[in-house]
Amino acid sequence: MTLLELDDLSVTYRIASGEVPAVRGVSLKLDSGAALGVAGESGSGKSTLAMALLRLLPRDARVGGRILLDGEDILTMKWGRMRAVRWAEASIVFQGAQHGLNPVRRIGDQIAEPLLVHNLAKPDQAGKRVAELLEQVGLPTWRARSYPHELSGGQRQRVMIAMALACKPRLIIADEPTTALDVMVQAQVLTLIKELIAEQNISLVMISHDLSVLADVCDQLAVMYAGRVVEHGPSREVFHEAKHPYTGALAAAFPTVGDPVSRLAPKGLGGDPPDPMDLPTGCSFHPRCPVALEECASLDVELWPAGDSRTAACVHVRAKEEAS
Ligand code: ADP
Ligand code: MG
Repeated sequence: MTLLELDDLSVTYRIASGEVPAVRGVSLKLDSGAALGVAGESGSGKSTLAMALLRLLPRDARVGGRILLDGEDILTMKWGRMRAVRWAEASIVFQGAQHGLNPVRRIGDQIAEPLLVHNLAKPDQAGKRVAELLEQVGLPTWRARSYPHELSGGQRQRVMIAMALACKPRLIIADEPTTALDVMVQAQVLTLIKELIAEQNISLVMISHDLSVLADVCDQLAVMYAGRVVEHGPSREVFHEAKHPYTGALAAAFPTVGDPVSRLAPKGLGGDPPDPMDLPTGCSFHPRCPVALEECASLDVELWPAGDSRTAACVHVRAKEEAS
C-alpha cells in the first residue's frame, strides 16, 4: 500500500534577485513500511523536498504539485489538520541535532512536548513514556534530566530520534541524520534507525549526500540533481550498477559506509553543482558529465525506464531503451 506519493512536486523560492527553482517536478512513491533514500550533492534540493513534506518551508517558497499522505493532500490541508499530522503521523529528524533541541530545556521535557501537545499522555504519565523512548534509542533513562549540552552529538541525535518516535508516527523523514557525526557514531545511529523502523513498521524517507549510507538503510533510492530526480530504483542496484553517470560518480565518491575521507566532492567529477538560478541548457548535468554527447546541451531527457523497476534521465539510457 502506498503511504506517501509525490506527484510532480515543485518548490520555487522567491528572493530579491529572482526565483530559485529548488525542486523541479519530482514524482515518487513510498510504500507503507518501506524506506526511500534521497541522494544528491549539497544544493540539489533534498532539504527543500523534506521540508515541503510537512509544509515547513518559509513563506517565500511557492509549492506546486501534490503530496499525498495516505491519500490526503498535505498541500491543501487545513492548518488544524496539518498540526495534527505533524509528529503524530509524520515526523522529521534534522541534520545536526543542535538545531532541533532547545539548549535551556531538559531532554525529558522536550521529548514529552509532542506527547502533551497531541494529548497522547497526561502530564503525570509522560515521564514513563519518555523513559521508554530513551530506552528505545539506547540512552539511560536518567538522561531525561540532562540538558542538550551535556550530551555528545550522537546522543543528541538519539534524542531527536526519540522525539520523532514519541507519537508513533507512520512516517519519519530523516534529513542527513548522521552527517554531523563521526564514523563510529554514525554507524551506531544508522543501525538504530534501521532497527527501529523495522520493529515498529515505520516508513522512512532518508536524505543523504552519501549513497552508501542510503544503500545500507533503504529499499529504494532516488538520486537528485539540480532539483530533479535523475535516477530511481531498488537501492542496491542503483548503488552498485548506476545507470545515470551522476549516480555513478556519487557511488564512486562514497565507497564504504560513512568513509570520512570520501565525504566531500564526488571523485572524478569536476566542477560544482549548478546554481538553480542559472541552470545549464539541456541536461543540467551535461557540463560535468564524462559521457555527455553534443545533443545533451540542448536535450533535456526525462526519466526513462532502465530495466526492472528502474528509471534514469540520460540520453544513453534512452538510446538503449529505444534500441531494445
Ligand atoms: P540540499 O538539501 O540538497 O543541500 P537545499 O534544499 O537546501 O539542498 O537547497 C536547494 C537550493 O535551494 C539551493 O540552491 C539553495 O541555495 C536554495 N535554497 C534553500 N533554501 C532557500 C531559501 N530559504 N531561500 C532561497 N533559496 C533557498
Ligand atoms: Mg540539505
